[in-house]
Amino acid sequence: QKENIRCLTTIGHFGFECLPYQLVNRSIHQGFSFNILCVGETGIGKSTLINTLFNTNLKDKKSSHFYSNVGLKIQTYELQESKVQLKLTVVKTVGYGDQINKEASYQPVVDYIDAQFEAFLQEELRIKRSFFEYHDTRVHVCLYFISPTGHSLKSLDLLTMKSIDSKVNIIPLIAKADTISKNDLQKFKSKIMSELISNNIQIYQFPSDDETTVQANSGVLPFAVVGSIDEVKVGKRMVRGRHYPWGVLQVENENHCDFVKLRDMLLCTNMEDLKEQTHFYHYECYRCRKLQKMGFTDVGPDNQPVSFQEIYEAKRQEFYDQCQREEKQLKHRFMQRVKEKESTLKDAEKELQDKFEHLKRFQQEEIIKLEGERRKLEEEIIDFCKTKAASENVQAQLCANMRKD
Ligand code: GDP
Repeated sequence: QKENIRCLTTIGHFGFECLPYQLVNRSIHQGFSFNILCVGETGIGKSTLINTLFNTNLKDKKSSHFYSNVGLKIQTYELQESKVQLKLTVVKTVGYGDQINKEASYQPVVDYIDAQFEAFLQEELRIKRSFFEYHDTRVHVCLYFISPTGHSLKSLDLLTMKSIDSKVNIIPLIAKADTISKNDLQKFKSKIMSELISNNIQIYQFPSDDETTVQANSGVLPFAVVGSIDEVKVGKRMVRGRHYPWGVLQVENENHCDFVKLRDMLLCTNMEDLKEQTHFYHYECYRCRKLQKMGFTDVGPDNQPVSFQEIYEAKRQEFYDQCQREEKQLKHRFMQRVKEKESTLKDAEKELQDKFEHLKRFQQEEIIKLEGERRKLEEEIIDFCKTKAASENVQAQLCANMRKD
């Protein structure tokens, strides 16, 4: 009887097994965004590699070696491959490693990464957030271009990578790998890895939770890459490569360089993981450091959990108390200065009063003295008039006597 029952296999998808399709459709509709930071010396092949990775010619002027400071060139492109749209932001260093003093070379890179985290944090803290339209510029991956010296990393490489390794997913690349022989390349790769480990520099750890990804991701770091968007004829095919007098280097041939591995790992296998690492690890660290600096924490001094609201209230009270204290101090200082000013003014007034009294006394004395002299003069005038009158009398008598004679 059992053998007679017909088994039907379903052709379409029903129920909640369709959920992944909803996500795929929505993501395709919304489009994707990806932000790459390229750090490396001028002319090391950053622009060429980006063009090769995205199979396009993102027209860009050649950089000069004569900048006095390191800068960053930020460009955003809208790319499309079949139905998938990608908003790609490429940030490239300009003038990196060209200055004699290399100490400040990495600071603009660090500042840029932090500024993007800060912008995102500010958007998160806004009352009216608009994440739907927000252009998230946080750096998802840093492609660090190492010069193909065949020796070791430069101190600038170590310094830069050390200062950004807790902020961004670093993928180290040996640039222009066609300029170094296969044997030297293997030795160079091991040397770079051992130097990164001995300097405790954290580079991006490719996911290891699924078998196929582990296989795809195994043991190629640092990627030895060659870039070119020129088409070269090999047999009957046209391939992207670099043509040399001794042969053709095919960019997409895995025996020639690691470009295909890099492209697969960056764009096909791990792009979402890079974005998740950026958001859940690097941004989370930045946010945590920033909020801790502002005095926020998850547990109180008694090791009991405290809410954001409680800390906010406590901070507000603390701030209010501090304002009150400062106001009191200011008032006290103001009153003190007023008192000081008052006492100096009083002193000046007293001095002026004393001077005035002194002058008044002096004037009165002068008046008395002059009055005495005036009286003396008047007496002298009276005496003189009396003497004059007497002498006139005598003269008149003399004249009369003379007339009588
Ligand atoms: P950027 O200043 O770092 O952006 O360097 P560019 O991408 O402008 O490249 C500078 C020069 O290096 C150009 O002439 C490129 O053709 C050349 N170049 C780029 N990639 C490679 C490579 O992988 N191998 C070799 N040999 N030359 C390359």
